[in-house]
Amino acid sequence: MSHRTDDLVADLATTLPSATIEAIVLQHFGIHGVVRDQLNSERDQVVVFDDVAGSTRVVKVSHAAERLDFVDLESRVAWWAHGVDPGLPVALPSPTVDGAWHAVADGRLVRVFDHLPGRASVDGATLQSATVKEYGATVARLARATRGFFHPAADRRLLWHVESRHQVAATTGAIDDASGRQLVEEAFSGFEHRVAPLWRGMRAQVVHADLTLDNLLLDSRGSICGITDFGDLTHTTLVADIAAALASVGSTRTGRHLFRAIALFLDGYTSVTPLEPTERVALVDALAVRLAITVTLSASRSVGGLHNAEYLRSWDAGAWSMLRQLRDASYDELARAFGYAPAVSDTTALVARRHAVFGSALAPLTYDEPLHLESGDGATLLDVDGRRYIDAYNNVPVVGHAHPRVADAIADQARLLSTNLRYLHPTAIELAERLVASMPEELGLDTVLYLNSGSEATDLAWRIASAATGNTGALVTDFAYHGVTTATTALSPEQWRGGWTPDHVETFAAPRGSTPDVTSMDDAVRRLAARGHQPAALFVDCTYTSDGILVPGKSYHADLQDAARRVGARVVADEVQAGFGRTGEHLWSFVGAGLTPDVVTLGKPMGNGHPVAAVIARRADVEALAAETEFFSTYAGGPVAAAAALRVLDVIDDEGLLQHAAAMGARLRSRLVAQGHPAIREVRGRGLLLGVELDGVSPAAVRDGARRGGVLIGTTGRHDHVLKIRPPLVVTEEQIDRIAAVILDAANRYEG
Ligand code: PMP
Repeated sequence: MSHRTDDLVADLATTLPSATIEAIVLQHFGIHGVVRDQLNSERDQVVVFDDVAGSTRVVKVSHAAERLDFVDLESRVAWWAHGVDPGLPVALPSPTVDGAWHAVADGRLVRVFDHLPGRASVDGATLQSATVKEYGATVARLARATRGFFHPAADRRLLWHVESRHQVAATTGAIDDASGRQLVEEAFSGFEHRVAPLWRGMRAQVVHADLTLDNLLLDSRGSICGITDFGDLTHTTLVADIAAALASVGSTRTGRHLFRAIALFLDGYTSVTPLEPTERVALVDALAVRLAITVTLSASRSVGGLHNAEYLRSWDAGAWSMLRQLRDASYDELARAFGYAPAVSDTTALVARRHAVFGSALAPLTYDEPLHLESGDGATLLDVDGRRYIDAYNNVPVVGHAHPRVADAIADQARLLSTNLRYLHPTAIELAERLVASMPEELGLDTVLYLNSGSEATDLAWRIASAATGNTGALVTDFAYHGVTTATTALSPEQWRGGWTPDHVETFAAPRGSTPDVTSMDDAVRRLAARGHQPAALFVDCTYTSDGILVPGKSYHADLQDAARRVGARVVADEVQAGFGRTGEHLWSFVGAGLTPDVVTLGKPMGNGHPVAAVIARRADVEALAAETEFFSTYAGGPVAAAAALRVLDVIDDEGLLQHAAAMGARLRSRLVAQGHPAIREVRGRGLLLGVELDGVSPAAVRDGARRGGVLIGTTGRHDHVLKIRPPLVVTEEQIDRIAAVILDAANRYEG
């Protein structure tokens, strides 16, 4: 490794006279001109040079000890970055008359750069928000432009680099003030504890490593128009590169202004290069170390009385101030600025806050001892105390919690565009085409409308059926749930509280028992007629989830829909709960159930958690609605929602989840019935939606007992008398076996 840390003590003050520089530039670069001005530089002699043709140049005379390979590195990287991203205003070295990027004269390495217009060393506190963001984006663009660059000298280390911290940390004794010394030592040791172990695993490459406001030029509108000085360039982490810039952007800011500037800078950076969660967290400590190095070097150089000590001291006040502010900031302040997860709230306090702010209309928390979750993966959930659960309850994350492909699709599309369907965009159209193609062709379901929730989908299905039939009544099973809007609450007897019964809705008995028939529905039709309503729609969730999870034979559905159609009703398959492969083998539960719907509603699992829902119907029926109203819902089917739903379909296909759901469902059922456990009266359902009817055991006690065993299940049915099991379709064999074992164990414990 090429260490170049001797510059702490070397006095590099010798400068060349202007006349010498002018002669060198003429001889080696063929440029005739005069030195106008000297610029500030830590190690080198940098001058402004006017050529006779009227152009201004910057001539950089490296210090006497400069290595040729380092100068070569800096020249090559500038041209490399320019080649990758020509829009980056990088200061480029001019060639010599011999075609080299530097000349060797008087024992010095001399380079000539175009002089970039603009103001340098602007006070960070005066930057507009837009410039702070642009600054972040520029740091990211430059790093992206040098991502593929390699040079054997790029492993050089300067004292400024985070990698040199041990050497600098050994000199903190030069800091007079004891409290300041302690602050700096804390910064070094905090980094050592929290970040150093992760450092080698972070993204690293050749980066500028010193893109401070001293090395940026701004035009009169405050836009970045120049990037100079690759003198600190090295191979290190992206985090180190960002920290160097943040140290500069924040150096004269305090309080809210500081943290706001950090957040805006990172917005700009991540608009080009997203950060990994570890990088965001490491950034605070890396920034603190960068600042600690700054003030320590300044103190030790003052002690040494070196020529550039004053130059270094110019950064002191800002660095000290930022160091203190970082130390004193609350976790949540840092989390907001650096964009990482806020602190985990205390569970008890959160319960109280939940109640205070939501009131009692919102459904209560699921367990007496609430589940306070942090993350998920596949069919696994993790709570804030690090406890793992197998999720055997949630049907929404159908392809698994936090599926990377779906999460990436959402994030990628959100980074690009999120608008509405009044603008032309392919994702919603492609999705609609795929949904149409997924329906049995003979049904003629050719038209798609998007919504944001299952309730809205059922609501719209109701409007379509009403418009298409001109009728006013609805038929639903006796404990159905179809949604939360006014129209769909009316379709949801499960939610009819306090004896309320809507006039236009009638219920019929859900198909319980071995030979259910449809006479109950015929009766319901008669009751509706007596109140002056012809049915517009029959709503069926083919898995009867809220009715207790039922599996009538195909002939039941054939009879049911015939009876409905005889009285002019449309048949609506509500696939919000049971769609997207839940029942195994087929994407849609109505296929295996023998129902041939006129309208299909989709929701919950459609975006694996991202809100997206749809209605699929026949064109003529949708046109009947169109004659009454124009349909548009702002978010519905927007590019992000559609991207999520497209990926869900892809993953179901690529991971073979329809077959997997069927196999896992069969495995779970056989595990549950294998022992002939007396508490298990019946296991019903299809695919990975199973209902377990218990005997002599409280389902709620089993549900809560299973949770203590690390398995999440629910209860359903009019009396909550049935265990509801519906894990994400990616559940594994081992997890299925564990689910069965935990449920059986809980049934043993809570028997009688
Ligand atoms: N229909 C059925 C069959 C459902 O299970 C649900 C939700 N449980 C809905 C409609 C309503 O969906 P959402 O909660 O997304 O509005």
